[in-house]
Amino acid sequence: MVGAHGGTLWRWCDRTRRTGRRRPRSRPPSGAPAFALPGTLVERRIRCGKPGCRCAADDPAGLHGPYYQWTRKVNGKTVTRLLSAAQMERYRDWFANARRIRDLTGELEALSLEIAASTEDWG
Ligand SMILES: [Zn+2]
Repeated sequence: MVGAHGGTLWRWCDRTRRTGRRRPRSRPPSGAPAFALPGTLVERRIRCGKPGCRCAADDPAGLHGPYYQWTRKVNGKTVTRLLSAAQMERYRDWFANARRIRDLTGELEALSLEIAASTEDWG
């Protein structure tokens, strides 16, 4: 079965037996295009608020985490999700890939605008 989002990517996904949901294998085979996750990440260490917990002390080393706050837009709305360190490790490359694609797109657009403007004398 081919997914809606460009068929070949789905081949690297397994369905979990329990839920039937698609789950990525740890990484695509070499030579295959990489995955990319949109959004921004902020590292957070948090206080849980329970009295007597180690996080209640003044020492920042006692705080829980790190967690990674992942923020992205879905249909114009901001969606935030907290990732564990293990989840962050699993998707770190995917976030980096998306950033790289954004950077390259920005460069390509700036260069294209410059060429078009000078070619058409749009100054
Ligand atoms: Zn705590």
